[in-house]
Amino acid sequence: MEIRIERAAQLKAKPDPSTLGFGKIFTDHMFIMEYEAGKGWYDARIVPFGPFPIHPASTALHYGSEIFEGLKAYRRADGKVQMFRPIENIRRMNNSAERLCLPQIPEDLAMEILTTFVDYEKDWTPSAPGTSLYLRPFMFGNDETLGVHAVHHATYMIIASPVGSYYKEGINPVKIMIEAEDVRAVRGGTGYAKCGGNYAASNRAGQKAEQKGYAQVLWLDGVERKYIEEVGAMNVMFKINGEIVTPALTGSILPGITRKSCIEVLKSKGFKVSERLLSIDELAQAMADGTLEEAWGCGTAAVVSPIGELCYKDQIFTVNGGKIGEVTQMLYDTLTGIQWGKLEDSFGWTQLIG
Ligand SMILES: *Cc1c(COP(=O)(O)O)cnc(C)c1O
Repeated sequence: MEIRIERAAQLKAKPDPSTLGFGKIFTDHMFIMEYEAGKGWYDARIVPFGPFPIHPASTALHYGSEIFEGLKAYRRADGKVQMFRPIENIRRMNNSAERLCLPQIPEDLAMEILTTFVDYEKDWTPSAPGTSLYLRPFMFGNDETLGVHAVHHATYMIIASPVGSYYKEGINPVKIMIEAEDVRAVRGGTGYAKCGGNYAASNRAGQKAEQKGYAQVLWLDGVERKYIEEVGAMNVMFKINGEIVTPALTGSILPGITRKSCIEVLKSKGFKVSERLLSIDELAQAMADGTLEEAWGCGTAAVVSPIGELCYKDQIFTVNGGKIGEVTQMLYDTLTGIQWGKLEDSFGWTQLIG
């Protein structure tokens, strides 16, 4: 597909790496294309970054028809820029689209668009340690009518933001509160889709945890409030008695690409990894008898985020003395090593730009 390019008249100055943070600064351009039922995708273009008009009746604004992805481009020591497993994000976006009745983007087209856009903006990939260019593809229903129906018109966009190191002051384990009331997702719902609505639904519990001094919540399943699902907006893993346990993908859990990568790295190093149901009672027992050795969240933004303390019904448990564990550290070193091109990519996960 032809991608029309409208270059910004004035390019912005690149920010100082120490000021980056997460998702506050955006590059000079953004990608947009439109979809209409019967016509398919059209008018693919890279245009100057900025606000754009949207009809006040747009489906996305009223009925939450929105999905997104998150991945990063990394600057290697030799100056080249590479992405980490982008095909996985493209496939997941199509799975999310299927769930929300948004249109599919053929994989080849989605990859061509992503690589063209990242190549165009690659000078924005910072090179300071731990920094990267965060890529945010998203799609929304954009019919200009209030009638409730499957989407006829959709818009697909990509924006990009240079982001700072997640761990500027070193990797500090976080305190997590187990949420026993609100649930993030239910089986048959949209938990496995990366959609904005899931985030809206999880805000209340996140806010409550924050007020109590916790970084995030540990979600339990929506039916029995019994099985562990995710931690905040990350997948979760535990080392219990030498075994790595992570909740099985039952439909209400987002299939993280970091989760998948951790499992593949762990298996390649000979760890026993079980994707299974893990009840809060089993975890509480493991915390009480000391067999819970490590716990961590995993996702693109942080890679891994060690859990140092878990609070369940006002009982507080410390994990690994509140320090990062060996397996958590190994996963962090291995994945970031591959992402920034410091370790050999024996899995074939990285994709060079240009
Ligand atoms: C995006 C996301 C994750 C992590 O997925 P990655 O592909 O590893 O970044 C986990 N849980 C939720 C709810 C998410 O939205």
